Amino acid sequence: MRLATIRTATGLRAVRLDGDTAVETGETDVRTLLERPDWAEHAAAAGGPVHDASTLDLAPLVPSPEKILCIGLNYRDHVLEMGNELPEYPTIFGKFAPALIGARDEIELPSQSDRVDYEAELTVVIGQSVRHADAESARAAIAGYTVLNDVSMRDYQRRTKQFLQGKTWEHSTPLGPELVTPDELPADPADGGALRIRSELSGEIMQDSTTDQLVFGVVDLIVYLSTILTLNPGDVIATGTPGGVGDARTPPRYLTDGAEIVTSVEGIGECRNVARSLQ
Ligand code: ZN
Repeated sequence: MRLATIRTATGLRAVRLDGDTAVETGETDVRTLLERPDWAEHAAAAGGPVHDASTLDLAPLVPSPEKILCIGLNYRDHVLEMGNELPEYPTIFGKFAPALIGARDEIELPSQSDRVDYEAELTVVIGQSVRHADAESARAAIAGYTVLNDVSMRDYQRRTKQFLQGKTWEHSTPLGPELVTPDELPADPADGGALRIRSELSGEIMQDSTTDQLVFGVVDLIVYLSTILTLNPGDVIATGTPGGVGDARTPPRYLTDGAEIVTSVEGIGECRNVARSLQ
């Protein structure tokens, strides 16, 4: 099953995507849908108003998650190519909901930063509450997967050791286009499956890797994070990005006014966003 949150003239709607059409589920967004214990059955059976899937106005997949957890330095190929040792523990940081935008929205480029970078990330969406998960309950807590572009203001990120200030600029972070349940994917990341993950900047491939390169896999991450706090429906976990980010290139490449950045994961879909300078 594939789910999305769309904007309509009368507000947000959670929809089920059936090929060329999107069917309203009666819930306002994917978080409120996932908060129903029967979300899968409810969404599968829903028969609300129907929209043409080609003209949807996509909101952030989860417009206001309780938590947006992000993992740094988590691709084996990227860590080793940088000459670093594989980490013992995951690097964890967060974003706040005002950072999120839809999969086709414009990324706001603030005048205060001239090092705005992209990071394609496989992202887990939680479908049921879980604390102190073991591997089995971690898997059961996964509703599905989506894509997050962890847009990063590298100059602000590096001002201090804590890099939150480079990671949560308002209207910077595409999340979507849709939630895809594991059964729809060619390989399940929870089994270490390899899905191709890519980014393309104004037509040029910048990142191209596979999700079997994750150092801490999605099950490991849910086990680890749920030791610290309860993960709840609609929470998102961005699992980190492979090599090829703009800041690590020679010469560096950043998002500039009018540039289009496409971030994609095989079987899920893509965020396609134009960067736009704030006037
Ligand atoms: Zn990231």
